[in-house]
Amino acid sequence: MVKRHPTAYFREEYERLVRENLNWELRVLQSACEPVCMVDGRKVIMMCANNYLNLATHPKVVNAMVEATKKFGAGAGSDRSIAGNMSIHEELDRRLAEFKRAPASLTFQTGFMANEGLIPQLCDRGDLYVSDELNHGSIIDGIRLSHADRAIYKHKDISDLDRIMEKAERHSPPYRRIWIITDGVFSMDGDLAPLPEIVKIAEEHGAGVYVDDAHGEGVLGEGGRGIVSHFGLTREQVHIEMGTFSKAFGVMGGHITGSEDLRNFAYNKARTWLLSAAVPPGVAAACKAAIDVLEAEPQLVERVWENRRYFIEEMEALGFDTGNSETPIVPIMCGRSKTAKDLADYIWRRGVFALPIVYPMVPREKARIRVQLCAKHTTEHLERSIEAFKEGGKRVGLI
Ligand SMILES: *Cc1c(COP(=O)(O)O)cnc(C)c1O
Repeated sequence: MVKRHPTAYFREEYERLVRENLNWELRVLQSACEPVCMVDGRKVIMMCANNYLNLATHPKVVNAMVEATKKFGAGAGSDRSIAGNMSIHEELDRRLAEFKRAPASLTFQTGFMANEGLIPQLCDRGDLYVSDELNHGSIIDGIRLSHADRAIYKHKDISDLDRIMEKAERHSPPYRRIWIITDGVFSMDGDLAPLPEIVKIAEEHGAGVYVDDAHGEGVLGEGGRGIVSHFGLTREQVHIEMGTFSKAFGVMGGHITGSEDLRNFAYNKARTWLLSAAVPPGVAAACKAAIDVLEAEPQLVERVWENRRYFIEEMEALGFDTGNSETPIVPIMCGRSKTAKDLADYIWRRGVFALPIVYPMVPREKARIRVQLCAKHTTEHLERSIEAFKEGGKRVGLI
């Protein structure tokens, strides 16, 4: 073995990332996540938060967190599987199922942990996962933790999915189980999975359907009930609807919704649920309050869609390409990485915060700035942002 310091590669790897322009430069948020924030000492319009409905600072949500923390303490003291399953966790599970109009839900510590814990339990040797090529990293990692076979279909490509399923049908020995897993809203483009077509193919082959609706919840469907509601599908068609409280709900925590059997299976099998601490009671109470607020104030959902419509129309009128967006995630397509970075720099100096998304997160020639609209952006915020994009877009030669 070559004798080197065991950690020498930490710095080498980091320096390589810096050389290749692949490292993350961390920004520091010095205020609450609101439409106008302090970031790195600068007052900026926040255009890249997942807090679509601004529930992170909603007084009812914040208050619920404070009150539950005073009553139940800062931490749950244990895993839910041992002694940390507090009444507030159970209330949150039931409240979510009621909101989703489903038999049962189960909440996890994060969305990442829900995928990473449950997905590997769905399939084993002799089974198959079928996954969209642009699925979230937590789905990819969840699949990697299983011994099952995997097949990746081209992004949203139903004929490719069909081809894979036909081939799987002829597999010998026959697969015991097949699960088709897809993001509901794809986070880099803001486009939607063709869920009704996926469901149809799954039904033909007797496969399960698992949708990760992290960016669709609170945004899509009746009163923000998510993608299953958006497409009018049933729990018999989409067997597992997974989501998170960290995006439109403004708090933190993953969850799954489906049958009572799913809930019983999941909490007895998912290792992230069994072997990691329960979320603090204040967090669970805040999530529950966020559902209450969403139900009481559905106009928040309307507002985020109005803001999206306005922003897209104005940007397209200026000549910007907004890609395949179908949601409040709006990519401003830039082509080369340098163009995206220069434009992001320019708008940043003009007081608008949105990040460039470049290779390897997206293909080399598809660099973009990803904008995320929220309910509380005012027309003035949007106009100032559009003005910055317009000036910057001219400078970098995009419009
Ligand atoms: C954000 C996200 C997750 C992870 O959710 P967290 O609750 O933040 O861990 C999982 N899947 C998708 C598609 C996401 O966008």
